[in-house]
Amino acid sequence: MTPDHWDVMVIGAGIAGASLAYELASTADVLLLDMEQTLGYHATGRSAAMFLETYGGEDIRALTVASRAFLEAPPAGFESPLLRPRPLLQFARIGRGQALKELFEGVNGVVGGVTLVDEAEARELCPILRQGIVEIGLHEPSAMEMDVDALHQGFVHAFRSRGGDLQRGSRVDELARTARGWEARLGDGTTVSATTVVNAAGAWADQVAGTAGVRPVGLTPRRRTAFTTAGPDGVALDRLPMLYDVDETFYVKPEGDQMLCSPADKTASEPTDARADTLAIARSLDEIREVTTIPARSVRASWAGLRTFSPDEGLVVGRDPDDETFFWLAGQGGYGVQTAPALARYAAAAITGDDAPKDVLGLGLRPDRIAPDRFR
Ligand SMILES: Cc1cc2nc3c(=O)[nH]c(=O)nc-3n(C[C@H](O)[C@H](O)[C@H](O)COP(=O)(O)OP(=O)(O)OC[C@H]3O[C@@H](n4cnc5c(N)ncnc54)[C@H](O)[C@@H]3O)c2cc1C
Repeated sequence: MTPDHWDVMVIGAGIAGASLAYELASTADVLLLDMEQTLGYHATGRSAAMFLETYGGEDIRALTVASRAFLEAPPAGFESPLLRPRPLLQFARIGRGQALKELFEGVNGVVGGVTLVDEAEARELCPILRQGIVEIGLHEPSAMEMDVDALHQGFVHAFRSRGGDLQRGSRVDELARTARGWEARLGDGTTVSATTVVNAAGAWADQVAGTAGVRPVGLTPRRRTAFTTAGPDGVALDRLPMLYDVDETFYVKPEGDQMLCSPADKTASEPTDARADTLAIARSLDEIREVTTIPARSVRASWAGLRTFSPDEGLVVGRDPDDETFFWLAGQGGYGVQTAPALARYAAAAITGDDAPKDVLGLGLRPDRIAPDRFR
């Protein structure tokens, strides 16, 4: 029977909301709401699907490393495998080697097998690289590609099997404080109520806070474009690594018989149904031709999604300092999928009052660095 009041209402059923709802549902009555009918319609369904342990700051790296065990051996009910190998080759152009050496210092010892390589080694690992471009490369052989859809659907199905309630096409328009917690007015005029609200609304998280009278933290959604183009002839695409410019001007990786590319754009945007930036694609095609032997003449498909950042680009996870029944799970930037399993465990423990999981704290996650009160 559907309760008339839930313990926790999670707003947003992208990877963040779905994974946390799954973790909470074994001990609490949880309602998971999304304004869209199609789950994963926004950032979660538009990602590049990479699992990169060298990517992001210290907290992101700790959460990514701590998520690996779950992704490698997911619980019953999840499709498996969720990961398959796709090594990463980050490169620095001539004159930019120092940036990559500094990155290496930060990740060496935390992420297994990472090495610095010279130009010849980089071209051996990635034969589509042209000569005379690369000063130095950083090879991450244990990087992976994730089946994001299977992971996301796995969280949603397992959440429902644990007795969780999911409502799609249910936009939260207003949140009002009540004696029992919160009452949400939905787009169709109906209301639902819960003791605790979790704000996992991605690019809309500040807006959702606004509807509750909670002060925003200052999130900026940033558009990132992606597109596909034909691969180079005569190259075994499946053996190519993902190729990533350390200065974030573009990246490419094989996707079936074609290449998935991105101009790595970061243009600030309103929360919206993001559309590809055609100028950024044109610039990127030139750059890809200059650096690689990918023909990069025409675009087969293109899309964009919003990566949402806090003012210091760190996560925003924890109880709101002005109202502890309002919990933030936002600011996942470009790492929300690869961090989701461990972040959901951490956030669930913070909500239920359990001890924070040792696997992330031991790896360097600092709760004070991700708490929302640092913006007040
Ligand atoms: C091009 C691109 C490449 C990326 N590559 C990677 C990658 O390789 N690896 C990686 O880990 N990450 C990657 N990311 C980042 C990753 O996609 C995001 O960090 C992650 O999906 C964020 O998940 P989320 O659940 O917070 O947001 P979303 O998936 O956007 O979910 C938020 C949900 O909230 C719902 N919502 C909003 N407002 C309301 C409301 N008022 N009422 C009800 N529901 C509401 C929305 O409908 C939405 O479904 C990439 C992103 C992009 C755009």
